[in-house]
Amino acid sequence: MSHHKVIVIGTGPAGYTAALYASRANLAPLVFEGVQPGGQLTITTEVENYPGFKHGIPGPALMDEMREQVLRFGTELKAETVLSASLGARPFALTTDKGDYTCDALIIATGASARWLGLGRDEELSRSGGGVSACATCDGFFYRGKEIAVVGGGDTAVEEAVFLTKFASKVHLIHRRDRLRASKAMQDRALANEKIHPIWNQGVAEILTSVLETPLGDKIEKIRALKLQNTVDGTLSELPVEGLFVAIGHQPNTGLFSGQLPMDETGYLQVEKGSTRTPIAGVFACGDVQDHTYRQAITAAGSGCMAAIDAERWLVNEGLAE
Ligand code: NDP
Repeated sequence: MSHHKVIVIGTGPAGYTAALYASRANLAPLVFEGVQPGGQLTITTEVENYPGFKHGIPGPALMDEMREQVLRFGTELKAETVLSASLGARPFALTTDKGDYTCDALIIATGASARWLGLGRDEELSRSGGGVSACATCDGFFYRGKEIAVVGGGDTAVEEAVFLTKFASKVHLIHRRDRLRASKAMQDRALANEKIHPIWNQGVAEILTSVLETPLGDKIEKIRALKLQNTVDGTLSELPVEGLFVAIGHQPNTGLFSGQLPMDETGYLQVEKGSTRTPIAGVFACGDVQDHTYRQAITAAGSGCMAAIDAERWLVNEGLAE
C-alpha cells in the first residue's frame, strides 16, 4: 500500500493543472492517467481557443505539453486505471488495475465521455472501425465523397455536421424533435448549408451492417444503413449511409463514486458553489466531471488550479502539510 498526500485521478486539462499546482506546492502528487491519457483533447485536431497559442495547437500536442510541464515539477504519473475508491474513512483508499493506494486529499478530474445511443452496436462499431464515431474531427477524413449521418440536435451535432460537409457528399442531420437545441447562429449556418439534409422527428432504431472483405482477406463489419423510427407516429424507414456520427451529449465519468458523492440527475458531481470542494472533506472535483455548462479546456484547467489550491489549504488546516 503506497500513501500519498495528494492523488489526482485523470489527465485532461483539469487533472494536469491540478497536478502542476500541487507539485509546485511541494505536495508531490501522484496522478493516475486513466483509460484515456490526456483526455478528450487527444481526439481533437486543432485547438484554436486555448490562450497562449496564437496559431492554434493540435489537441494531442497541447496535452503532451501539459504532461511534460507536470513532470518537470516532480509529479508522478502512473498509467493505471482506478477501479474502486473508498471515501468513507481517511486516508482515502483507491484500488487500481495494478495496486492499492491511500491519500490524504483526493482530486477527481475524471472528465466526461461521449454518450452513445445505447443500441449496443454503436459503441462496438466505433471501436472496430465499422463506420460509427463520436468525433468528427478525428474521423471525418475517412468519409470523403460519402453519404453519412449525424444524430443529435445540440451545438455539437450541428458543429460536427458542418465540419463533415468538408468531406462528405451529403450529411443527414437526424434529430428526434422538429426543432434543434443548438444556438440560433449555429442552426442558421447548418441549415443554410446545402450539403446538410435535416431529418426531423426521427430516432435511430437500428444500425444495419454488412460484412466486407478487406484486400488482405480480413472480414470487417461496416455500417450500410440506419433503420429510423418516426418519434411521432412510430413508422419505420431505412436510410442508406456509410458513416454515423453520434453527437448526443456527454456522460460524466462518475461511476466510481456513486453512492459516495452527491451527483445531479445526469451524474455530474456536485461541488460547493465557487469552489471545488465536495461534501466529503479532503475530496475535490474539477473539470468536466463537475461542469456540464462550460466544458472547455480552459475552464477545466482553471478549475484544476482551484482544486489544487483548495486541497493545499485543506491539508494545511488539517496539519497534514506545511
Ligand atoms: P446537448 O446536451 O446540448 O445536446 C444533445 C442533443 O442530443 C440534444 O439535441 C438531444 O435532443 C439529443 N439527444 C440526447 N439523447 C439522445 C438520444 N438518446 N437519442 C437521440 N438524440 C438524443 O449536448 P452537446 O454535446 O450538443 O452540447 C453540450 C454543451 O456544449 C452545450 O452547452 C453546448 O452549447 C456546448 N457546445 C458549444 C459549442 C460551441 O459553442 N461552439 C460546440 C459544442 C458544444 P433534445 O434536443 O431532444 O434534448
